Amino acid sequence: MDLMKISVQLPDGSVREYAQAVTPARVAEDISPRLAKAAVAAEVDGCLCDLDTPLTEDARIYGVKILTDRDEAALEIARHSASHILAQAMVRLYGPGVQYTIGPALMDDFQYGFYYDFDLPSPITAEDLPKIEAEMAKIVGEKIPTQRVEMPVDDAKRHMADLGQSYKVEMIDDLVKNEAVAAVSFYRQGEFLDMCRGPHLPDTGRLKAFKLLSVAGAYWRGDERNKMLTRVYGTAFFDKKQLDEQLARVEEARKRDHRVIGKQLGLFLISDAVGPGLPLWMPRGATVRAQLQAWLQEELIRRGYQMVFTPHIGRLDLYRTSGHYPYYKDSQFPPIFTGGPSEKPCGCADYANAPADDDSAEGYLLKPMNCPHHIQIYKAQQHSYRDLPLRLAEFGTVYRYEGSGELNGLTRVRGFTQDDAHLFCTPDQLEAEVESCVDLVKLVLSALNLTDYHVRVSLRDPASDKYVGDVANWDRAENNLRNVVKRLGMNSVEVPGEAAFYGPKIDFIVKDCIGRKWQLGTIQVDYNLPERFGLEYVGEDNRPHRPVMVHRAPFGSMERFIGILIEHFAGAFPLWLSPVQVAVLPVSEKYDAYSRRVYDSLRAAGVRAELDVASDKIGAKIRNATLAKVPYMLVLGQKEEESGQVAVRHRTAGDKGAMSLAAFLELVRTEIEQRNATSVLA
Ligand SMILES: [Zn+2]
Ligand SMILES: [Zn+2]
Repeated sequence: MDLMKISVQLPDGSVREYAQAVTPARVAEDISPRLAKAAVAAEVDGCLCDLDTPLTEDARIYGVKILTDRDEAALEIARHSASHILAQAMVRLYGPGVQYTIGPALMDDFQYGFYYDFDLPSPITAEDLPKIEAEMAKIVGEKIPTQRVEMPVDDAKRHMADLGQSYKVEMIDDLVKNEAVAAVSFYRQGEFLDMCRGPHLPDTGRLKAFKLLSVAGAYWRGDERNKMLTRVYGTAFFDKKQLDEQLARVEEARKRDHRVIGKQLGLFLISDAVGPGLPLWMPRGATVRAQLQAWLQEELIRRGYQMVFTPHIGRLDLYRTSGHYPYYKDSQFPPIFTGGPSEKPCGCADYANAPADDDSAEGYLLKPMNCPHHIQIYKAQQHSYRDLPLRLAEFGTVYRYEGSGELNGLTRVRGFTQDDAHLFCTPDQLEAEVESCVDLVKLVLSALNLTDYHVRVSLRDPASDKYVGDVANWDRAENNLRNVVKRLGMNSVEVPGEAAFYGPKIDFIVKDCIGRKWQLGTIQVDYNLPERFGLEYVGEDNRPHRPVMVHRAPFGSMERFIGILIEHFAGAFPLWLSPVQVAVLPVSEKYDAYSRRVYDSLRAAGVRAELDVASDKIGAKIRNATLAKVPYMLVLGQKEEESGQVAVRHRTAGDKGAMSLAAFLELVRTEIEQRNATSVLA
């Protein structure tokens, strides 16, 4: 008789052989009892699986890696297991009428580590979370083993229908339809059964540290036509210390919330009368934005860009050519129709009811992108290789119809201004242009003290044929991007398969001062639009050629970038960006006249100053200016008036002593001109 032989290769290359079926748990035990105890899950031939997954195939070498709490993938499994424990607790507390839908782990979200969406017999609020957490802790204490069960589709559906889980029945139908599955997997932990691909922690006792964080509404499948479900968010870690540190960071982030600070400091507002997602910039916020824009524009002109202005709308046909319409119509405001359907004379009702995808309908679209407009400017003239690259820049406002649930202060909006530019160049010039763009983004980030970042280079999936443009150009462009990040010594990762169908790109992933990651600064190569719009230049050979386009935006959008800056600086902008740079504070009304002279001199020198002649005590005036995050305060009384000096206070460093007005002016003007990120007096 033949003995089965199962071979297992470990990450160090060593091979172990077993006479019969084996599990990763057993392999871990063989390696060391300590590893067996620390094991959370396994990776078999690159796929994550449960520790008790049987490895049964004869004459095959399984590559096995045992995952412990040090592996990022293990944390994801723990968080996902936490969501099952949450669902089990919900059913225990609120009865079999609780329908559980999906409960993924979140690894890229700053605040949350997992959620589960429920259809509940009666609503819950945040006040119910401690009770649910207590039930979860009980389930963890029970150390219930988790067990994978496979069921044929029909059994599975019957089972879920019997449990009253109609969403799961719908999900099984989808699996059959989309993936033609014959069986589905379930996980059982005690009395609780949930459909899931897994893998999971081996038992509920392995979840070491978790916390429920909030309750929110979420539409089933994210579609507002569907029922609103209850989403419970939480997070989980392998130890209490990591959990506590993260909760402290989240608390810090809450204090820095740009929506709260934006209101306190009077920077911007979102008025329901104007519309959700359409921010209004108040004078102080507008000052910050205008300073950033002026700075960037100066830099662009120094780098050979030319500024343009284009309208906020464009013909539907323009976007039919670019491909933005009708393909992205779900993320746009409805078109403004100017003619009815072409085959009949039109009345008002026809305008309103013209089908959005009627390809003959005439009208305009709020622009979702600036590129088609800039392309028309390129096309207005003949171009020779000698006058390329052409770099057209615009602080261009665009409109996208984000779902109302997605909107968030300045960071997710429906109307925003991109610091946009389009570079039209020859393939030979691409590398130098990309390098200059990367250099610009680096300059912007370092000037604002955002120094912790890496770049992501998104390349094509070599196995796919969805990409436009020829292969040689793609190879060249991808190498161009690689060369640039290498030459500039950037910390970078390459992500194959993440390129857009029209070209590879570089994104900057920036960490702010509390460790949150933001995607800023995109540089995108595009072969598609030059093709669609038939762009040309005359080459050295006197023949027409296709230019390459680069889309790039160092800030991304002014709204989002300033939202991030508000949180990064917690509202305390560097002097050059501060809406009010100096507060002039007379200690009593006797010194109002002297204070006004000082104030006038500051204004005349171009410093944004404010004079506080309220009847408040000086302590209250200092407190108000400090709360308003004004960098410098000049406290003026008898001594200052007699000596013609100013007593200087800094918002964080406090009293800096007296100096002549001329000396102070010199100091702030230098600091403003140099756009220092931190103050010389701080
Ligand atoms: Zn699961
Ligand atoms: Zn563009």
